Amino acid sequence: MQPGVRKFRRTPEGYRWDDVDLLAYKQTGTHFKDITRQVLFGEEAGLPTELRYFEVAPGGHSTFEKHQHVHAVLILRGRGRVLVGGTITDISAFDLVYIPPMTWHQFHAHESEPLGFLCLVACDRDRPIRPSESDIEALRSDPIVGGFMRV
Ligand code: MN
Repeated sequence: MQPGVRKFRRTPEGYRWDDVDLLAYKQTGTHFKDITRQVLFGEEAGLPTELRYFEVAPGGHSTFEKHQHVHAVLILRGRGRVLVGGTITDISAFDLVYIPPMTWHQFHAHESEPLGFLCLVACDRDRPIRPSESDIEALRSDPIVGGFMRV
């Protein structure tokens, strides 16, 4: 990683930084919608963590998933809602979200605003788990979670 500054830019396509690639959120799948990923500080920065920026377009959402690794999230732009375990909360710029190990979670952008957030994760981390058919059935039996989840 080059020493020094990479400048920030606001673009019509979203928040960008010089020399940071805009990546697909995940390589495959249809279980997420309208979301991009940028690795701001990756493994090459020499830290045990990676700092990523995700941007969910209006009406979009991240994957409904859980895993052993944790997420430490700072909302940077827009607004939306997040499910953490059995709790759904409205979120907007500068709110912090902590997602503990093996806790179902999903981010939804508001219908009329994007949702951009920084997400800190361990470099060495497990792969996310998506809900099985029986998980989905159990989750749907909770009216709050069931009404929110998009799988
Ligand atoms: Mn996750």
